[in-house]
Amino acid sequence: MSDFDVIIVGGGGAGLAAAIMARRAGASVMVLEADTKLGGATALSAAVMFAGGTSVQKARGIEDTPDAMYRYLMTLAAHETDPRITRIMSDESGPALEWLISLGVEFPADYLLCSGVEEVPRGHPSLGVAPALVNAAGAEGVETALGTRVDRLLIENGRVVGVEAGGEELRADAVIITTGGFGNSPEMIAQWYPTAARHGDWTYAVHMDAPFILGDGITLGQQAHAEIVGKDSGLLLPTSGLGKWIEAFLPPWIMLVNEQGRRFMNEASPYAVSGYQINAQAGGHAFAVYDHVALEEGSQDMRFADPYHSGTAMPTWEYNLLTKAAADGRIQKADTVAELAALVGVPVEGLEAAIARYNADCDAGADGQFFKQMPRRFPVRTAPFYAREVRASVIGQTGAGLNIDGQARVLDEQGDPIPGLYAAGEVLGCTVGKRYAGGGMGICNAMVFGRLAGAEAANAALSVREPA
Ligand SMILES: Cc1cc2nc3c(=O)[nH]c(=O)nc-3n(C[C@H](O)[C@H](O)[C@H](O)COP(=O)(O)OP(=O)(O)OC[C@H]3O[C@@H](n4cnc5c(N)ncnc54)[C@H](O)[C@@H]3O)c2cc1C
Repeated sequence: MSDFDVIIVGGGGAGLAAAIMARRAGASVMVLEADTKLGGATALSAAVMFAGGTSVQKARGIEDTPDAMYRYLMTLAAHETDPRITRIMSDESGPALEWLISLGVEFPADYLLCSGVEEVPRGHPSLGVAPALVNAAGAEGVETALGTRVDRLLIENGRVVGVEAGGEELRADAVIITTGGFGNSPEMIAQWYPTAARHGDWTYAVHMDAPFILGDGITLGQQAHAEIVGKDSGLLLPTSGLGKWIEAFLPPWIMLVNEQGRRFMNEASPYAVSGYQINAQAGGHAFAVYDHVALEEGSQDMRFADPYHSGTAMPTWEYNLLTKAAADGRIQKADTVAELAALVGVPVEGLEAAIARYNADCDAGADGQFFKQMPRRFPVRTAPFYAREVRASVIGQTGAGLNIDGQARVLDEQGDPIPGLYAAGEVLGCTVGKRYAGGGMGICNAMVFGRLAGAEAANAALSVREPA
């Protein structure tokens, strides 16, 4: 006898979406959540959702289709991602977004933006996703147990038949793992995200206020011989490392150079590409170079300091912090470019040549090398000159995890579905692919596969339910 038709491990975005869908299909549902509150990283997020072919885009006169989104995701990943999963994500992102609207989530059409390098805007900022999911789950009669960290799957004859948390067993016809990523576990990062681990003390996750984002779903899946895929994929955001804050952008008023003193990217690139560009440089790092005018005027200009219109400046590039860090030596400061190059340890001729070219472009009003667009340009010309090391080391999303089929069933090491086991959200290793495609892909993933897993698990559970 089962205690519930469906048990969901993790009450974040994917778990709640799955719970609502399973209840609406007629299943009894229990959500087990390790934290003392529901929401997980979803509740902490900026709640931007990536989606194609939506009513919000239409309201802005933007033509878009799931096919176009599919082509974008596959191309950006250089086809090194699972086309079945990408197809589902592209086809179901629009319906998932409309479903959230039906639950009361607001996606103001004015906020729509290109959150990656897509040709039409697919980043849908919202006024918050998690509260609507929590309310809807309550209204549908989803049961929840907080402070309940699941540590074991119950497995009988190869079938998952329930879970164990702190010695208590609960049985179900279907179990859905929605435990999120592993950004708060140094051990998991070392094993599954070595590009992040190599930055040592510079590495932390934006999930820091969600204490159970520890990769439990990977460990639970492995108990049932689940295949773990997507090693070393995810999203690494750039930072000056001057503090542990959540931010995603480099300020466009800096000039970024590598160990050779060469410029190598558009400093205003979105995070769908910037972190990968920095990590591809020798030493996996770069140096932000700027002058007195850029510090005084660029860092205090909110057009550059707050690209997502949050009302606050990016904390690690904020004027007072930069000034203090220059005074206490965490930022290098020099009266000449040659002196600065020596302090940073980059070749003097290389840096001087790069700055000469950059300044000429600034004077001409166009970036001839990397086409950086900005309303005002800041040459590196007026002493004192500054340099600060930059790394893309802040985990925005982890990409390794469980593999699923088109019905959200977890696959084992042979590629076969594990009976009774489903998964959705950031715990999946098959959704990110080579590159995080743009702001909103985390919520897209959680909503699309959460909804799918909930519906599929409920159907499977109800089909084996004994007649009353
Ligand atoms: C600050 C921040 C900003 C972000 N901004 C965006 C954004 O704007 N757009 C976007 O697309 N993505 C964003 N992301 C990423 C996105 O929020 C996540 O990828 C997504 O919400 C993950 O949803 P999920 O349901 O898979 O996991 P979560 O929402 O993290 O839920 C997982 C839940 O499982 C629980 N759990 C873990 N282990 C166990 C266990 N053993 N037993 C029981 N419960 C367990 C956790 O406590 C947690 O509540 C952001 C993330 C953060 C942290």
